[in-house]
Amino acid sequence: MINIPKGTKDVLPFESYKWHYVENIVREVARLFGACEIRTPTFEHTELFLRGVGDTTDIVNKEMYTFEDKGGRSMTLKPEGTAGVARAFIENSLFNRPQPTKMYYITPVFRYERPQAGRLREHHQFGVEFFGADSWQADVEVISLAKTIFDKLGVKELQLNINSIGCPKCRKEYNAALKEYLASKIDGMCATCKDRLDKNPLRILDCKEEGCKEIIKDAPNTIDYLCDECKTHHDNVCKGLTSIGLDYTVNPRIVRGLDYYTRTVFEFISTSIGAQGTVCGGGRYNNLVEQVGGKPTSAVGFGMGLERLIIVLDKLGHTFGGEVVSDVYIAPMCDEARQLAMPLAKSLREKGLSCEYDLMDRSFKAQMKYADKLGCRAVVIIGEDEIKECRASVKFMYSGEQESVSLDGDTIYEYISSKLS
Ligand code: ATP
Ligand code: MG
Repeated sequence: MINIPKGTKDVLPFESYKWHYVENIVREVARLFGACEIRTPTFEHTELFLRGVGDTTDIVNKEMYTFEDKGGRSMTLKPEGTAGVARAFIENSLFNRPQPTKMYYITPVFRYERPQAGRLREHHQFGVEFFGADSWQADVEVISLAKTIFDKLGVKELQLNINSIGCPKCRKEYNAALKEYLASKIDGMCATCKDRLDKNPLRILDCKEEGCKEIIKDAPNTIDYLCDECKTHHDNVCKGLTSIGLDYTVNPRIVRGLDYYTRTVFEFISTSIGAQGTVCGGGRYNNLVEQVGGKPTSAVGFGMGLERLIIVLDKLGHTFGGEVVSDVYIAPMCDEARQLAMPLAKSLREKGLSCEYDLMDRSFKAQMKYADKLGCRAVVIIGEDEIKECRASVKFMYSGEQESVSLDGDTIYEYISSKLS
């Protein structure tokens, strides 16, 4: 028996309706905000992620699924969604179209992580990318898009945490202050953070090691080091969020794990699903497009973990619109009736009713049991006596109500659909 790879999951036929429900809502909300779907390949040249995600991040250093293809090229399965979108934006000159370019995607993401609740080696993200807009309004817009999804799903428990990590200009001053603070504490830090101190000190604030977490508790905050432009931008984002009634907490410890962020960063965090509580994370990344070879382009977006979102919804007892079941089951009671089931099913399906009939040569009793188990709402019973009179019985499973009707597709369709609507 060959098992599923560690850290991956099957979505089974009786649970895929949850995914469809969530995917329909995210697509619908993206549409409300004027964002169109972009689909990029599952693998890209490794170089893209080295440049785009940054070679001081955990993702690039430890978590990438990298392989050599048969042509000797280094390829990597997407470890996040944004770098591929940035590449496509540049390669297809999307900047020549009316700006901003508002895009969304639903994609698998691959990271070699230690599997645990809410942490997989293959997970799925819904992501949004607005390219070409530098305004604080664009930040508010993408945060509002994420919030609209949670509202539509009826999830109230997610808390919005925001922060600003400034621009390269103010980051310089901040990094100096952080290094000064950490200099005397270096012995207590993990090996990775010791290494980060010179290369990328901001990442230390994102460390999950207990010792480092303790040390950074009193570290200086980026928000106190913002230049005038970054400060104004941040204040406006906060005012904008307030103007649409969106509650938030300014959390100076949110810095995000990727190198490409500038200014606004944010996370929507659940308090009820344990340590892996961040359902959505994003922010502004004005340097990314340039880093992967394009002209300087402002950008803002987020990634939403769909497995984690579904864990939250399950926890809340969400029904996801209910399991999808066929409207009609056709139950023939004799061989002649079995011949009639197929054209009847064809006719009902053409009119839009989903329907099934016996494929297992079950007895009539077993068929009724099966239809009940499936949750079909109506059963069309065709028996010997009924065939003689060219009639069928329609039974509604939820009420037990049963009626004899003429055995033709039009009549049966009219009768059932008038009762089901
Ligand atoms: P975390 O801090 O939990 O590791 P992250 O900062 O690495 O998250 P992002 O790269 O911002 O996450 O990805 C966006 C979202 O994707 C996360 O907020 C989370 O909901 C989801 N996600 C990230 N990594 C995983 C994973 N290994 N398994 C399942 N979902 C994940
Ligand atoms: Mg992570």
